[in-house]
Amino acid sequence: MKMKQAGLVAVFFASILLVPQSADAKVRVAATLGDLGAAARAVGGKHVEVTTLAAPQEDPHFVSAKPSYLKDVAQADLLVLNGMSLEIGWLPTLLDNSRNGAVQQGEPGYFDASTVVERKEVPQTEISRQMGDVHPEGNPHYTLAPDQMARVAIALGNRLGEINPDHSEYYETRSRSFAKECLETARKWKKRFAELSDSKREIVVYHEAWIYVLDWLDLERAIAVEPKPGVEPSPEHVKQVIETMQSRDLDLILKMEYYPSAVVERIAGKTDASVVTSQGHARPDQDYIARVDALASSIYEALE
Ligand SMILES: [Zn+2]
Repeated sequence: MKMKQAGLVAVFFASILLVPQSADAKVRVAATLGDLGAAARAVGGKHVEVTTLAAPQEDPHFVSAKPSYLKDVAQADLLVLNGMSLEIGWLPTLLDNSRNGAVQQGEPGYFDASTVVERKEVPQTEISRQMGDVHPEGNPHYTLAPDQMARVAIALGNRLGEINPDHSEYYETRSRSFAKECLETARKWKKRFAELSDSKREIVVYHEAWIYVLDWLDLERAIAVEPKPGVEPSPEHVKQVIETMQSRDLDLILKMEYYPSAVVERIAGKTDASVVTSQGHARPDQDYIARVDALASSIYEALE
C-alpha cells in the first residue's frame, strides 16, 4: 500500500514536470495576490491560465494557506509574487512543499514583481519582523499604484515570453498596451487630483499601505492609526491620532477592508472624518484598471 502511494505521488510529480510545452499550451501562472493575478491576465491573455492564491479580502501579510494553494504552486510554470517580504509569513513553506523546481527563487518561473518597481520607504537601518514592523524591506504595497504596475507589466511580458517563446510577441504587445493603459489611468487621476485645494491633501491611513498611491496622487499622510506597520494601536496612540486630526483639520481616513473597523469608526466619530475602505486586492474576475479607477474615484469624492 505504501509503495503504491509513493508510486502515485511520483507519477503526480512526474506528470507535472513532463507536460510538453506545445505551441498551444498555456503558461500556468500562480499569482500570490489579486492585483498581480489581474496583471497576469491582462498581459497573458489567452496564452495563460491564472490562479490567484490569497483571497482579495485577506491581509496579504497574514494569509492562511489552504491545501489548494500547494496544488496551484506545484502545477505552476510561473509564480508571480509581490516580494519585499509581503508574503514571507506564508509563501516560503508553500514553495518548499510544492517540490516544483521551475518556480523556485532564481529560476525563470519565479517572478518577484518588486524587483522592477520604485521601492519606497526602504529603511536606512536594519529592522526585522521581530521588532513588530512588517515592512523590513520597505513599503511592499505598490500594486495599488498604476504607474508602478506599468513597470510590472513590461517585465512580466518579457518573462512570459522567456517561458513560452512561441508567443513572446503576443505577450510583448499585450504588456505594452496594458502598461500604456496603466500610465494613462495614472495621468488621468493625477490631473484630477491636482484640482483639489492644498488644504485637502493631508490624510490619515490605517496601515502604511498607501505611500505609492499618495505619491501618485500628490497627497500626504499625516499620521497612521497603526503606530508601526503590523502593530495594533494602543489607546495612547489613538488619542494622538485624534489630536493630530483635530489640530490639523484632517477629515479622511484610508483603510483596507481587512483591517478592524471599530477603532477607525471611533476616531471618525470623534473627528467627523469620513472613511474610505478599499478593497484589499482585485477579485479573480476583476479588471485591474477598473479597480484602480474605483479606488481613485472613492478617494477623490471623499476629498472633494
Ligand atoms: Zn503592510
